[in-house]
Amino acid sequence: MKDEPVAKNLLTQMGSAFIRKEPFGLALIIGPWNYPVNLTLVPLVGALAAGNCVVLKPSEISKSTEKVLAEVLPQYLDQSCFAVVLGGPQETGRLLEHKFDYIFFTGSPRVGRIVMSAAAKHLTPVTLELGGKNPCYVDDDCDPQTVANRVTWFRYFNTGQTCVAPDYVLCSPDTQERLLPALQSSITRFYGEDPRSSPSLGRIINQKHFQRLRGLLGCGRVAIGGQSDESERYIAPTVLVDVEETEPVMQEEIFGPILPIVNVRSLDEAIDFINRREKPLALYAFSNNKQVVNQILDRTSSGSFGGNEGFIYLTLTSLPLGGVGNSGMGRYHGKFSFDTFSHHRACLLSHPGLEKLNEIRYPPYTNSKEQLVSWALGSQSCTLL
Ligand code: NAD
Repeated sequence: MKDEPVAKNLLTQMGSAFIRKEPFGLALIIGPWNYPVNLTLVPLVGALAAGNCVVLKPSEISKSTEKVLAEVLPQYLDQSCFAVVLGGPQETGRLLEHKFDYIFFTGSPRVGRIVMSAAAKHLTPVTLELGGKNPCYVDDDCDPQTVANRVTWFRYFNTGQTCVAPDYVLCSPDTQERLLPALQSSITRFYGEDPRSSPSLGRIINQKHFQRLRGLLGCGRVAIGGQSDESERYIAPTVLVDVEETEPVMQEEIFGPILPIVNVRSLDEAIDFINRREKPLALYAFSNNKQVVNQILDRTSSGSFGGNEGFIYLTLTSLPLGGVGNSGMGRYHGKFSFDTFSHHRACLLSHPGLEKLNEIRYPPYTNSKEQLVSWALGSQSCTLL
């Protein structure tokens, strides 16, 4: 939080140059439903730590958490610094008509566009933490059971309702054949013979999402799982194969416990497939060969990257979380949250006297003054000067 001193040139040597982090003012934080505590309180902490006041708008879909946040937060925080506003799309639309000094939005790219358009009217800066389809490349050179354990864990965690979950697997037909029994074995080991009775598997948030996900089960061919029960909004951990790129399951973000496998014949084809699409929030690559992982890293772009790993990088507050392109803009977590909610103000405090030293900057301009200025600015300045 302290002022950050910066390098100076000869012309500013007697002054003090620093960056001050000051609060923007009033921040609006809009949260999604899938991690309704974490995805509202973590940005809230960053915004308050940076000295802002906050209007917090949790998702109306996770309605119990919405209620708890509205009831509990005022008991613990200074109510002159924040307000919790409840409502859905219509109310949020009205809220967005007001001028805020910063807007931090987590949600879908579709609503992200609405938020950014509203922010543009007031020239309000935004962070957009969005979603999309996260690819997961599995190389022929891998241990299928290890990959299956890791992929099963982070695909079905929170019943697949995670923005950084692997949305689909890209691998060769041979690797698919080795991976399928391994995935089945991991699913059984984690959730038992009947995943429906597993206390470690959740349910789909609401009927609308349940119906949407059940519709996706009709894409390709079900290789594992596929069972569903509307009365409980239960969908079994599912793997789909023979999926076409044009089918809905490969067009929209899945956000549920369904994992399609798309076949590619080579690493180059996988990279082309990834680069033909919008830049994802997260990208994963599994291989025993470091060069393969590094090639994927070097030749693609994404908000975050996991090599032989799931989204455990989220536990590192030393790494930022944020998207790129269609998956969002800006970043937060740890110190990044503080920086996101701070305006970095450029400051130079000069000596009120010592006017003689300023003579070289004033007209009339002469060759000798110009030479002196160039020498005094040295390497710390723009060459145009
Ligand atoms: P959503 O975009 O439907 O809703 C997010 C918020 O926007 C909610 O508070 C909602 O009330 C509000 N909203 C909805 N429609 C609106 C409208 N027309 N005008 C104004 N506000 C509106 O997203 P969701 O369904 O809650 O969450 C799922 C999405 O969020 C997925 O795309 C997921 O990938 C993404 N997500 C991203 C991250 C991340 O960190 N990048 C984290 C979690 C979820």
